[in-house]
Amino acid sequence: MPAFPIKHLRLTLLAAGIAMLTACGGGTDTGATSSSTTPAPAPAPVTPSACPSAIIPLTQPEVDEALFMREEEKLARDVYADLAVYWQAQAGTVPVVSIMGNIVQAEQEHMDSMKAVLACYGLPDPIGANEPSGVFLNPELAQLYSTLMTQGKTSQSAALKVGGLIEEVDIEDLQRSIEISQQAYTDQVYEALMCGSRNHLRSFAGQLINTEGGYTAQLLPQATVDAIVNSPNETCGGTSSTGSGGKQNGKS
Ligand code: MN
Ligand code: MN
Repeated sequence: MPAFPIKHLRLTLLAAGIAMLTACGGGTDTGATSSSTTPAPAPAPVTPSACPSAIIPLTQPEVDEALFMREEEKLARDVYADLAVYWQAQAGTVPVVSIMGNIVQAEQEHMDSMKAVLACYGLPDPIGANEPSGVFLNPELAQLYSTLMTQGKTSQSAALKVGGLIEEVDIEDLQRSIEISQQAYTDQVYEALMCGSRNHLRSFAGQLINTEGGYTAQLLPQATVDAIVNSPNETCGGTSSTGSGGKQNGKS
């Protein structure tokens, strides 16, 4: 079982953020009076790319990253699916239910994209067949699932903030995945996932802006989040069709 030292740090930061959320959360519910809010459109699907024609083995850091992102996408899918069921039962088809319900399918597609990456390189899938919700090989992701579910059940507003936090973490982790990635194929997959995450962040933040007047960044710099939230939804997953093997990352 590989170690994830970088993710340990990031998850620790995330846990600190959750503690702050818990401490500051006033329990004010939203959504009950926001029936005029239009749910965000379903994010564009990500089309998993075919394997590269010549497979060059991934380095160990690249392997660790791929395994971790496969499970992190499951974390997003499971939290959204389970919180949507919870709030549907509590409050009916309120905005958080519609938004999370829409995004579940995109997260399934992100999981599928990472499964395809693992398959291309002959790597074992950390997720078993019919693995139940909330079950992870990585114990920190298992703990995180539990923590986020507890937080997301406290109010509809808290659930939307859990969604925003997951997407901010996903964007940060995928930025690192792309830095570690040395192959155009994995770059392309991670870029498509991050594009989806930006759309999801727009959905969660947009709903909170509608109901609470703003969205406070939870992990990324506020300016980074504002730039995403204030730009239009993107179409994600289109093949960039260059195929020339050179990296084309927009690294800052
Ligand atoms: Mn995702
Ligand atoms: Mn997402």
